[in-house]
Amino acid sequence: MSGPAWNRINEPFSQLISAEEIANRTAELGKQITADYAQFTGNADVVVLGVLKGSILFMSDLVKHIALPVYLDFIAISSYGDATTSSGVVQITQDLTRSIEGKHIIVVEDIVDTGHTVDYLLKNLATRMPASIKLCSLLHKPERAEREVKIDYLGFTIPNKFVVGYGLDIAQQYRNLPFIGFVPNA
Ligand code: 5GP
Repeated sequence: MSGPAWNRINEPFSQLISAEEIANRTAELGKQITADYAQFTGNADVVVLGVLKGSILFMSDLVKHIALPVYLDFIAISSYGDATTSSGVVQITQDLTRSIEGKHIIVVEDIVDTGHTVDYLLKNLATRMPASIKLCSLLHKPERAEREVKIDYLGFTIPNKFVVGYGLDIAQQYRNLPFIGFVPNA
């Protein structure tokens, strides 16, 4: 695949998952979601809910492979803690634009690490009386799990490395890398 020469030797990351692997897996997940939700043909039954900002690249590619009427919404959350450890204290900084009562929700996340963030989010969304909630996460780091989280649609299981790219950042940088990289020695 041609594109900008991102993987420059002086950048602080190495490639873990290529753009092609991401594209292939995302297409598979979209196909699976299409099959699972095929009975929902109403215009506003299924909501694909992206968690800002990390999920945006994944979500924009994923929804192109969901061959169903869905509507898109976003929620922004911030997690207190230092750069690499989530404390479990989560704040909603931008809420959904529409009620999700009675809707089938597919939450799209970038990564489940300790599980605190998504655990909080799923519990919060459940209080809003949706018909169902499923979780789709691009990445999962099972070695770091502190909360049990059921991931219904998973892109990749990764080792305990701090990753960047394809939506994931370090201090707001590198979200636009077309692949997932990791920071050696981080
Ligand atoms: P958790 O609450 O599951 O520990 O953390 C979830 C959030 O922490 C993710 O949504 C993401 O913003 C951030 N995070 C966790 N692991 C990584 C990582 O390896 N790289 C980056 N860039 N962010 C991460």
